[in-house]
Amino acid sequence: MNVLLIYPEYPDTFWSFKHALKFVSQKASFPPLGLITLATMLPERWDKKLLDLNVKKLREKDIIPADLIFISAMSVQSSSVKEIISLCKRLDKKIVAGGPLFTSSPENYQMVDYLVLNEAEITLPLFIKDFYSGDLKHIYSSTDFADIKTTPIPQWNLVEMAQYTSMNLQYSRGCPFDCDFCDITVLYGRKPRTKNREQVLAELDALFNAGWRGPVFFVDDNFIGNKPKLKTEILPAITEWMKAKKYPFYLNTEASINLADDAMLMDMMIEAGFESVFIGIESPNEKSLAECNKVQNQNRNMIESIKKIQLSGLEVQGGFIVGFDNDHQNIFEDLTNFIQKSNIVTAMVGLLNAPRGTKLEERLLSEGRMLKDFTGNNTDFSINFIPKMDYDKLLSGYKSILNTIYSPKYYYERTLNFIKTFSPKQKKVFHFNPNYTSALIKSIIKLGIIGEERFYYWKLFLWTLFRKPKLFSLAILFSIYGFHFRKISNDVY
Ligand code: SF4
Repeated sequence: MNVLLIYPEYPDTFWSFKHALKFVSQKASFPPLGLITLATMLPERWDKKLLDLNVKKLREKDIIPADLIFISAMSVQSSSVKEIISLCKRLDKKIVAGGPLFTSSPENYQMVDYLVLNEAEITLPLFIKDFYSGDLKHIYSSTDFADIKTTPIPQWNLVEMAQYTSMNLQYSRGCPFDCDFCDITVLYGRKPRTKNREQVLAELDALFNAGWRGPVFFVDDNFIGNKPKLKTEILPAITEWMKAKKYPFYLNTEASINLADDAMLMDMMIEAGFESVFIGIESPNEKSLAECNKVQNQNRNMIESIKKIQLSGLEVQGGFIVGFDNDHQNIFEDLTNFIQKSNIVTAMVGLLNAPRGTKLEERLLSEGRMLKDFTGNNTDFSINFIPKMDYDKLLSGYKSILNTIYSPKYYYERTLNFIKTFSPKQKKVFHFNPNYTSALIKSIIKLGIIGEERFYYWKLFLWTLFRKPKLFSLAILFSIYGFHFRKISNDVY
C-alpha cells in the first residue's frame, strides 16, 4: 500500500514568515507534525511519503503511484486543499482527510472519500479496522478526547529537515480558559491533556537523533495549562536532558499571561532552554476583554505583566485583535500605543472572526450577525460577521495599526528598546548553521543598502554589535521579521 501524506500550502500571511524564510534559504517554518504523527499510527508495512506543499510543488507524478492520499489541514489552507482534492479526483485517487478544517466543516467536503475527523488517536484506528474488513464508512468522528499518553513519536524520517527553520513537538492539548472566539477548547477541550515525562524525552531524543540542532517549538495550545505537572515532572526532566546534551535546541511555545504571576515557573522554563513565548494579549480595552471572556487578561496591568516576563529573560510575542463589539473609535490608537509601550517586537494583529462551534459564533448566530465561514487568514481583511463598528472604519483603523507598528521607525524603535532592556539568563549555546551567515549578508544588502529601513537597520546593527553583542543574532532576526511584516502588510493593501 503506497500512501502519500499531503500538507496543503499556506497563503502569504503574517504567520507564514515566507519573506523572512528567503533570508535563510528555507521554505517553511515548521514541518506538518500532525501528518508525521499520523504516519506512525498507520500500519508499519504501508509505504509512506510526505509531500509538504509549502516546500515542494503539487505534481501529478507524485500522486500517480499512491493508493491512498491523506490530507490534514487548518482553515487557512482551504484554498490549497481545493486544488489537491480536484487533482486527486481527476487522477481517480481515494482521499482520506482530517484535521481542524475538515472536523469543523465536514459538509463542505462531501467529495472526500473518507473523513477521519476529530482526534486521529481515536478515529484513525476505526478507519484502519474497516479498511481491512472492506467495510469503509464516509465519516469517522468521535465526541471523546484522546488520551495523548498513547500518541506515538512522529516519523521524522519523512521530513527533509533542512527545508525548515524549526522543528516542533507537542506536550499537551487543550486549554483551561474559555475565550469565546477560540476554537481550541471546542476541538481539544478545557481540561489540558498531557504526555508523560518519558514521551517528551523520547520525542526530544528522536529529534536529536535525527540530527536536528536549533529551534524547537512546543505547539501546545497553552503550555502552562497544567502548572503543577510542568514544575514537578516535565521541566526538570527537559532541563536535565538539555544539560546532558549541551542545549542542542532553542525552545519556544505559547502560554497565557498568568505566566507572569509565577516567577518560579518562568525561571524553570528558562533553565530548560525556553527563549520566547507567544501570548494572546488581544486588547488593551478591559470591556473587550470582558466581552470575549479573556478572564486571565482582565484586572491586571498588562504592560507590567509583559515586562515581568521579558525581565525574567523570555521574549514575549503577542497576538492582538480588533473588531470587538466594545471596541471604541480610539481603539486603533490605543492598541498602537500599547504595542509600542510593551516593546513586543513580534506583534500579530488580526481582525476578530468567529470560527465554527465557538461561543462567539453561537452569540452572533442568535443575533443574526453571522455571514460566512471563517477563512483563518489574518491578512485577507475578512470578517465573517457583521461588526458593531462600521466596517470601513474598522478596516481603515486596522490598516492604520499595521502601517504604524511595522513602519521602520516604530518597528526598529520597539526592537531597540526591547534589546536594551532584555537580558537572557541562560547562556546561549550557538549551533553554527551556514544559512545564518548568508542571512546576515542578505540582510545587509536588502535592509542595510537597498531597503527603506536602512537608517534604522544600521542604528540597531551597530548599537547591538558594540553594546550587546550577545543579542546581535536576535537583532538581525528581528530586522528580517520586520521586513516580512512590512512586505505582507504592503502586499495586502
Ligand atoms: S487562552 Fe488561548 S488557547 Fe486558551 S481559550 Fe484563550 S485563546 Fe484559546
